[in-house]
Amino acid sequence: MSNYIVLVKQVPDVSQITDNAFDPETGTLVRSRLASVINELDAQALAFANKMRQDSGSTLSTTLKTGALTAGGKIIALSMGPPMAEEVLRYSLSRSADIVILLTDRALGGADTVATANPLAFAIRKIVKEILKDDSDYYVITGMQSVDGDTAQVPAQIAEELGLPCIAYVTDAQFRNNHFEFTRIISGGSQTVAAKKLPAVITVAKYEYPLFATFSRTRWANKSFDPAQDGTQVIRWSASDINATHIGVTGSKTSVIRVFPPGKNTRKCQQISDAESLAKILVESFKTCGELVESSGNGQAGKNGQAQAPRYVLPNKRASLFNRNFEGTKKEQADYEILSGKLEELGITKINQIDDSSKEKILEAAGEHFHKKALEDMIEGFKLAKPSFEGEVWVVAEHSDGVVHPATFELEGRARELADSLETKVGVVVAGNNIEPMAKELIAAGADNIYIIEDKLLEVFDPTAHRKAIADAISTYWPQIVLYAATPQGRMLAPMVSYRVSCGLTADCTGLDIRDSSRKGDIGLLLQTRPALGGNVMATIRTKNSRSQMATARPGVMKRIPPDPSRKGKIIRHKVKLTEDDVNLEIIKTELGSGEVNFNADVIVSGGKGMQSRDNYERLMGLLCEALRKKLDIQVERGASRAAVEQGFIERVHQVGQTGTSIGPKLYVALGISGAIQHMIGVANTETIVAINSDPNAPIFKQCDYYIVGTVEDIVPKLVKELESR
Ligand SMILES: Cc1cc2nc3c(=O)[nH]c(=O)nc-3n(C[C@H](O)[C@H](O)[C@H](O)COP(=O)(O)OP(=O)(O)OC[C@H]3O[C@@H](n4cnc5c(N)ncnc54)[C@H](O)[C@@H]3O)c2cc1C
Repeated sequence: MSNYIVLVKQVPDVSQITDNAFDPETGTLVRSRLASVINELDAQALAFANKMRQDSGSTLSTTLKTGALTAGGKIIALSMGPPMAEEVLRYSLSRSADIVILLTDRALGGADTVATANPLAFAIRKIVKEILKDDSDYYVITGMQSVDGDTAQVPAQIAEELGLPCIAYVTDAQFRNNHFEFTRIISGGSQTVAAKKLPAVITVAKYEYPLFATFSRTRWANKSFDPAQDGTQVIRWSASDINATHIGVTGSKTSVIRVFPPGKNTRKCQQISDAESLAKILVESFKTCGELVESSGNGQAGKNGQAQAPRYVLPNKRASLFNRNFEGTKKEQADYEILSGKLEELGITKINQIDDSSKEKILEAAGEHFHKKALEDMIEGFKLAKPSFEGEVWVVAEHSDGVVHPATFELEGRARELADSLETKVGVVVAGNNIEPMAKELIAAGADNIYIIEDKLLEVFDPTAHRKAIADAISTYWPQIVLYAATPQGRMLAPMVSYRVSCGLTADCTGLDIRDSSRKGDIGLLLQTRPALGGNVMATIRTKNSRSQMATARPGVMKRIPPDPSRKGKIIRHKVKLTEDDVNLEIIKTELGSGEVNFNADVIVSGGKGMQSRDNYERLMGLLCEALRKKLDIQVERGASRAAVEQGFIERVHQVGQTGTSIGPKLYVALGISGAIQHMIGVANTETIVAINSDPNAPIFKQCDYYIVGTVEDIVPKLVKELESR
């Protein structure tokens, strides 16, 4: 009978952000000013573990009166955090956990995902040894990601540390033939898989059947935490209890350089009161769409709200050694501006001309901007010209049935720019079976070298086998940068590979730039910018203690370069020894969208779960698409949210979003769609977004240009009538 180790995390409540939660000086969100709650997906993971326990036929293992545990079917909740994180364990105990463990120690603070996954994996080893008595029949169940980190890297890295299979983005589990089959989200559809052997790590993407605390369990949970009671179900461990190898700041492989507010939203977010006005706006805005491109774009001011930075040039290619325009932070850049200005004024062109008297003059000019130590560091930094990292810029290709995922081409576009700046080559690594025909297209999209890892065992994506192949190629050729698409597959593969080759990884980047930090001895670093805390802040991150810098990048953000079929590239075949044991998942069923859809249409009208039924979807879509087609004399196509597809309103091929298709029409009309990030990623390049939703607080209203609060049943027929009468 399986046991379940559930990872639960206390996170800031980003759904309840008040104005005073923002720092008035920096404009960034102050985490400590937010209330703390259990990470919603971890609460779902706890409920999911409970469902698995029930479905597999084991009864609740804890005897509430005595706290005694039966042999199997235990749910053990594990949390790492400050002492106050105890609250999420109380929550767990009062729902379904039998034992709760808090891993708490100051030394564990300030950790990135590696230094979080590592101690958690060591704690799991200790649980298995001491509580499960080395019984390997267990699952580690976690939420797909936490709202504060948003990386989805920790579970995969725990799996890597423990050498376990990982099944990510799970939405359901069925107990059949004495084992569990899991349904999970994949690009373009869904898949049913089973772990060939246990233990296994499962990450839950959605399980909306919450557990409620009963009165008796709550009493029992509170009693367990009472210091006067000898509650054996509450265990506290410190760092020295688990002997992890990577903890806290020193064990981390990435560090945050800068946190800043997200770019100003350039969507209009204008509420429209009635269908008549909306019809007018639809027609007008469609006519002026071309003109709106510059102002609307992807809804962000410039890239991430920043002005486009000039392209990086290596120090030895700059007009002067004193040109340090490419320093990492704004403050550093400002310091160098003062310094180089003064050096110019003093007529100094070589480092050895900087003597004590010139240093004094420089410090006088610098005032409070920098002092002696910083000046000495900057002068030392001038001697640096050699990049800190060496090797090519790589993209890990994602493909299915011989078709390259569009996000791979986008990454190649950015990799080309980065590689040109760093004066190196672009490599694309492809793992699979019969993959060589893809090389031509990958070269045309910007690659110099294609690394082919061909093996029958790599025919379909199995995280364990693929991460072994990719990691082997990386640790043979050591590229300086490795980019993966932030798709479900990339977000699964990248953390496993990076952990395996001991390199830092930043998730879901929306900006990748090259900068120096020469005062700290770094030249040509990859700065990785990403949204954090549910998109409420942006963070720029750098890699440390690693031979290669790695990032997953959000699809639809980087730009593909126009394919050039005349480009020449080299194919390098890389052999990796794989056996059946490297394939950990049994793939039972894959459901992918098929059929034709014209997402190049000027207008896409999409329906979400709020369309209520297939009939409603058919009727209202038919009416609105036809009215727009006639009125504007353009092509109109139907789209849908993932939830609408899962409800059976329309075929999978119509799904828009992260795991559907990314689109960029002139006009996007969203009917009964809430505006989840995974959906909105897919419409980021749309010129005008219009939303109709009955919930006045629907998140989509903050991400669209025009919206009406109302039901689709009420608004759509009125809108159609107005369009027809104009
Ligand atoms: C790894 C991963 C990948 C994913 N990929 C995608 C993806 O590619 N695409 C995608 O769309 N999602 C994706 N999702 C799912 C995504 O997180 C959301 O669950 C999904 O987008 C929600 O769809 P929805 O807005 O239709 O449904 P809901 O979030 O349930 O929203 C329905 C909306 O309809 C409104 N409504 C209800 N009744 C009415 C009415 N009568 N009239 C008007 N409005 C009404 C409600 O107010 C609500 O806002 C992914 C999730 C994960 C974890």
